[in-house]
Amino acid sequence: MNPYKGIDLLNLDSQFTDDERQVRATIREWVDRAAMPEVESSFNAGSFPVNLVESLADLGIFGAHLDGYGCAGLGPIAYGLMMEELERADSGLRSFASVQSSLAMTAIHEFGSEKQRQLYLPDMAAGKLLGAFGLTEADHGSDAGSMETNAVRIDGGYCINGAKYWITNATVAGIVILWAKLDNAIRAFVVDTSLPGVSREEIHNKLSMRMSVTGGLTFQNVVVTEDALLEGTKSLGSALQCLNSARYSIVWGVNGAAADCLHTTIEYTKNREQFGKSLASFQLVQQKLADMAADLSRSQLLALQLGRLKEQGTLHWSHVSMAKFSNTQTALDIARTCRDLLGAAGITMDFSPMRHSMNLETVNTYEGTRHMHQLILGRHLTGHNAIG
Ligand SMILES: Cc1cc2nc3c(=O)[nH]c(=O)nc-3n(C[C@H](O)[C@H](O)[C@H](O)COP(=O)(O)OP(=O)(O)OC[C@H]3O[C@@H](n4cnc5c(N)ncnc54)[C@H](O)[C@@H]3O)c2cc1C
Repeated sequence: MNPYKGIDLLNLDSQFTDDERQVRATIREWVDRAAMPEVESSFNAGSFPVNLVESLADLGIFGAHLDGYGCAGLGPIAYGLMMEELERADSGLRSFASVQSSLAMTAIHEFGSEKQRQLYLPDMAAGKLLGAFGLTEADHGSDAGSMETNAVRIDGGYCINGAKYWITNATVAGIVILWAKLDNAIRAFVVDTSLPGVSREEIHNKLSMRMSVTGGLTFQNVVVTEDALLEGTKSLGSALQCLNSARYSIVWGVNGAAADCLHTTIEYTKNREQFGKSLASFQLVQQKLADMAADLSRSQLLALQLGRLKEQGTLHWSHVSMAKFSNTQTALDIARTCRDLLGAAGITMDFSPMRHSMNLETVNTYEGTRHMHQLILGRHLTGHNAIG
């Protein structure tokens, strides 16, 4: 199979700066050399390859979009290109990076005090401290605002009770950004996962995101000091602000998964012969390849435009909702079509499309389901709230 060189029918490369292209080249080389060889065994084992954490940190991926505190301070396009390359390997790898960076570190950077930033961010950028983001509960997913986890003030701090479920990195994180109700407002606390009263369990039997650890966290009379509260968090809107940063990384990331599927399938159909000819020479096959290339190109343009808006400071949540559901659906459709074009071989781990399509089922659901983002955009377009 020819090595991956990117799928760029619109010459979007010409839109990137030398620095952005260099960032992408560095991550692309690392993904091919170090990450790709880990994917099959990690996915089969249902575990995240923690041996990659150090190099992810050395590459400056953790908190790459943030300034100061040991973070790389990259622009939105370079950050997006990083996420695209990581997800080309596996959505679990991009999830790991984006939970650490866009969710946990962003929450502290955005809503923490200077003391909290100094305390946590340098270690998180260096990969010495891993973070999780605990918003979802078993009974409260899309409607996270109805969460039951709560904090009450006690002498010198807070006492927290509740449980979070479906939390990425739950069992490997040293801290969790825990969203809980305090005086009826949703606030976030930085909670050390080794504190008495915190228990964790891993969710097994996943058919999706197997190269990512997902789990539950229970908090029983967990006592934290006053400095655990992220004072800047005021409501569910604060959590959504972090999620918008993570959704931006999805908008780019899923294009990487889709590009990997398309590259794999173009190569496969050129080499596989049926009826005395390569699959690639059949019109129906070419029609599918052409449709997928056009769809992927539209998703790439959408990601680039979101990056430009973010650079200008005019990115709106409705843009992020639209691109999150649209690019994820496109990538999912591409992965499924590629699986089909690979025939029986496509159901094995020897080829990436079915693994990507299983992962993209999660991407379709987490950080706001497709429906929720459609409803958010629908509300923006019409002024009518059809969510609840
Ligand atoms: C692998 C994985 C990792 C995750 N990581 C994290 C994490 O790190 N942190 C975290 O906090 N959460 C995480 N999540 C949770 C994720 O964000 C939730 O699963 C998601 O918000 C959806 O919630 P739910 O699963 O409870 O589905 P539900 O909310 O029960 O939705 C089920 C279905 O009903 C639809 N639906 C719901 N409400 C409406 C409505 N008003 N109108 C129309 N349709 C509706 C949904 O679109 C969906 O199709 C993760 C999930 C997975 C699978």
